[in-house]
Amino acid sequence: MYESTRGNLERQTASQAIAWGMVPGGGLFVPEVLPALNWKELRELSYQELAERIMSLFLPDMPPEVISKAAAVYGGEVFEGADPAPLKTVGHFSVLELWHGPTAAFKDMALQVLPHLLGASVKQVNQGAQVLILTATSGDTGKAALEGFKNVPGTSIMVFYPDGGVSAVQERQMTTTDGSNTYVVAVDGNFDQCQSAVKEIFASEELRSKLAQKNMIFSSANSINWGRLLPQIVYYVWTYLQAVEQEKIEPGAPLNVVVPTGNFGNILAGYYAKKMGIPLGQLICASNKNKVLTDFFETGVYDTQRAFHLTISPSMDILISSNFERFLYEMCAKDPEKIKAWYQSLSASGVFKVDEDTLKNSRQEIWAGWADENDVLAVIARAFKEHRYVYDPHTAVAVKVYEDYVRASGDHTYTAIVSTASPFKFASSVLEAISGSKSPDEWEALARLEQETGWKIPTGLKGLNEKPEQRVQKCEPQGLKEVLLETYHLNDLS
Ligand SMILES: *Cc1c(COP(=O)(O)O)cnc(C)c1O
Repeated sequence: MYESTRGNLERQTASQAIAWGMVPGGGLFVPEVLPALNWKELRELSYQELAERIMSLFLPDMPPEVISKAAAVYGGEVFEGADPAPLKTVGHFSVLELWHGPTAAFKDMALQVLPHLLGASVKQVNQGAQVLILTATSGDTGKAALEGFKNVPGTSIMVFYPDGGVSAVQERQMTTTDGSNTYVVAVDGNFDQCQSAVKEIFASEELRSKLAQKNMIFSSANSINWGRLLPQIVYYVWTYLQAVEQEKIEPGAPLNVVVPTGNFGNILAGYYAKKMGIPLGQLICASNKNKVLTDFFETGVYDTQRAFHLTISPSMDILISSNFERFLYEMCAKDPEKIKAWYQSLSASGVFKVDEDTLKNSRQEIWAGWADENDVLAVIARAFKEHRYVYDPHTAVAVKVYEDYVRASGDHTYTAIVSTASPFKFASSVLEAISGSKSPDEWEALARLEQETGWKIPTGLKGLNEKPEQRVQKCEPQGLKEVLLETYHLNDLS
């Protein structure tokens, strides 16, 4: 069963938690208990089998055939290559490539699965209702969610992205989606404003009841939805098994993991895998210049009252990391009153401070660091020169923070860097780092990057500039609700 981080709702089934996406009155669903895993029993499994095994543990009320069909996305043509999450060796550590899905970023790992889980959940708890999926995106979730949900019967999806806050490729990926149930909205604000506005809509009783009159319900494709986090636990287990299989570590020895972090969903999945019994060592949280999390682990103060930076790792340009609430819930010994107070303070003043114990527990679980733009470009240039390996800027943030960690701690435990995007998704920055020269436009940069590196442009990014674009609506952050009401003809309802 799943409980609310804010203690404002009785326990719910997995289906209900996934169908709702987040707790209607605010708060996030978390599993009451984490099932235990013995990695030794999982060694023979394929990725698909592993996914099925792990997801089943968390979804007791879901029909087994749904879970099995969901896991099948990892075994088919959806992900390029035989392994959806290959662990590659680069120098003295490994890189877990999570970007072989249709949109060339790691969001596909979960968003190819979520439509299966959400469809079944809604059927279970809300027979016949149409699901309206609202998604705020810092760039990659949007396209991955559009791809996952396009033309899925019984669903409609609306994606909100910060106008000018995503890369040219990311924007074009979203606007060229060809589904009949997809809408894209450019918001004159940053990601945090998009996400907050979407959360407000979810929390609105008035909108819920309007939708109910049309037999519609809201849900979320953001990582606030448990159905998004769950599939991400799988690749941490996989990584461990692969590291053993490739003889990078002794069976049972720890494996450190570095995760480029924005909304804290990815690294949280790693934390859950560790708590379930996978021998992961130090978890390292890597941020870009928007280093709210790094500062938190230093001071215990979560402070969003600061300048917001647009960086070359836009998917991490986030100050309000939604899933941090789930992490803090664990760190404060599951005290919903504390969570409630902190998040009330956050929404009132943009800041909260945790108690000593919570900070101490947090520091025991996570080491945090950050990287500057110049560090990122230098990492990309050096890795290409030394290893002919090409990082995207998000992954390069993680590599830089890993180096800082080793220097600070002297810990030389074998490490996996989680790679979250194909370098082609951020071609102009990567090209600049590698060749030293800027490209006049993004499309030329893609082609040049292919020439310079000998790496292949992922299928999903080919010919993007020639595809027809759908109409993009534009609005202010306070106008999201109005766009929604108009698009779905809800204005005339009481
Ligand atoms: C979403 C994203 C991240 C951040 O992941 P979170 O789960 O939000 O912490 C990092 N890198 C890329 C490329 C992303 O798309």
